[in-house]
Amino acid sequence: MLRLYKFLKPYTLMVIGVLVFVACQSIGDLYLPTLMSDIINDGVMQGDTNKIFHIGGIMLLVALGGVICSVLASFLSAISSMGLGEILRNKIFKRAESFSLYEFDKLGTATLITRTTNDITQIQTVTVMIMRLMISAPIMCIGGIILAIRKDGTLTWVLGVSIPALAIVVGFIASKMIPLFKKVQIKVDKINLVLREKLTGIRVIRAFNTVDKEAKRFNEANVDLTENYIKVNRIMAFMMPSIMLIMNFTTLAILWFGGIRISKGSMDLGALSAFTQYAMQIMMSMLMLAMMFIMVPRAQAAAVRINEVLDTVPEIKDADKTKDNYEGKGYVEFKNVTFSYHGAEEPALRNISFAARPGETTAIIGSTGSGKSTLINLIPRFYDIQSGSILVDGVDIKEISQEDLRNKIGFVPQKAVLFSGTIAENIRFGNDGASDEEVRHAAEVAQAADFIATMDGGYEHEIAQGGTNVSGGQKQRLSIARALVRKPEIYIFDDSFSALDFKTDAQLRAALKSETQDSTVIIVAQRVGTVMEADRIIVLDEGSVVGMGTHKELLEKCDVYREIVSSQLSEEEIA
Ligand code: ADP
Ligand code: MG
Repeated sequence: MLRLYKFLKPYTLMVIGVLVFVACQSIGDLYLPTLMSDIINDGVMQGDTNKIFHIGGIMLLVALGGVICSVLASFLSAISSMGLGEILRNKIFKRAESFSLYEFDKLGTATLITRTTNDITQIQTVTVMIMRLMISAPIMCIGGIILAIRKDGTLTWVLGVSIPALAIVVGFIASKMIPLFKKVQIKVDKINLVLREKLTGIRVIRAFNTVDKEAKRFNEANVDLTENYIKVNRIMAFMMPSIMLIMNFTTLAILWFGGIRISKGSMDLGALSAFTQYAMQIMMSMLMLAMMFIMVPRAQAAAVRINEVLDTVPEIKDADKTKDNYEGKGYVEFKNVTFSYHGAEEPALRNISFAARPGETTAIIGSTGSGKSTLINLIPRFYDIQSGSILVDGVDIKEISQEDLRNKIGFVPQKAVLFSGTIAENIRFGNDGASDEEVRHAAEVAQAADFIATMDGGYEHEIAQGGTNVSGGQKQRLSIARALVRKPEIYIFDDSFSALDFKTDAQLRAALKSETQDSTVIIVAQRVGTVMEADRIIVLDEGSVVGMGTHKELLEKCDVYREIVSSQLSEEEIA
């Protein structure tokens, strides 16, 4: 928790300002009952109108000063807590951006979102509260007690009874409340998770007619949360009346015993009025402190979750000294690469060695789960390998900065992802500086121009969030265009033609050929037709290379390849 407050540093002056203004306001508040007692004793009781006006004027000024201080404190505390939130959100976002895919697999997207929104709001609320109460509650409480004793020492025994009574009630309530609040936090997380998963999967849920079942699951999480909140509120409902009861009894006792003392002539009316008000101020400040103790553990849980993100060190980091000035055209080489996912028993890839040269097309084929996607994810360094080395233009990719490395690569992932924005913006995502002409050209090569032309607004057509308003094949072609507009040295297509019909697939590959003439092209595919003409075909089976060569060579010597081919093509197509 404390560690997060170091991010308040840029706002140090403002925080000090808040503390000073709050202190001034509290001192003013403490001064008011004394003035009130003076006005009663010296003004009203003596019938001295001048005195009334004089002290009344001072009271007005003190009250006005209090209001101004309070407004300024609110203003500054709002600015600094919002600033803290902004800094924290930035930190989390930056940190999450630097995560490798392993950290994303581990933490999960849903909690990263809750942590950047909910948890930070919690911290902000508590920050404001602490800034305001940290100073004012002790001043009011201790100052109130001292001033009350000075007004009338004998009556303080009333406080000696009521303050412990209040402390017991509040302590009891807080001890019930804190664990409940912690539970609520966990439940809110669960709701977020269920909601997110269900809403993203809504099509599948509809298709499999499991709406009712899923609604029930959501309902369970929801009812759970509601019950918890009801419990919280039940305790709250009990808290307010019991506190009011104690306060009212205290006032009653003060007035009763004070009245007796006044009738004996050992106390005056002004002192009684001031004493009553001090008693209230003391008890209110104790309540505020108690609230703080209830809120702080909630924020603490949030702080722990935020720290967890900030403390996660990305596994993949740039080397201390990265090579930058090296020439090359995108020559990719795997040397004896072995890789396993965290926690997996078997390596996903074993002893992979091959080279992909500029100007050539290297294809990777194999059954699902054979490790094709894994293999190409290693080239942009989405995961780090355990042994062997991957070289780009003769330099180990661990020695290149990730930014330089990824700048060389045009990556088309297996699952095409588009962002909300226009089609042109989505294509330009590959290269900010691309001209309209370049965007159009990329779309033409990717065989996307035709369907873009039929869309309302053409290149300015808005893509819905998650790309739900374009078909799978259209999505694939747009993400191919996005890679093309980058004009990279290395093209990587992960099964990017799978959703295209045969004709479009063939047209696309023909158009790509002239576009990618000087580049290294790596194509992952399931269809033999897509890879047949490649300069080199690598056959993967259960994480190992079982064959490498041209279509013709593989047909002669690789059993796995022959099997794939005969399952897809007829005899005459093979020949
Ligand atoms: P392909 O692309 O050839 O269908 P993948 O490379 O996606 O195959 O998967 C190869 C193997 O690695 C599979 O057994 C799969 O279960 C496993 N795998 C893939 N991604 C992950 C991951 N993020 N974490 C753990 N295991 C994974
Ligand atoms: Mg795959």
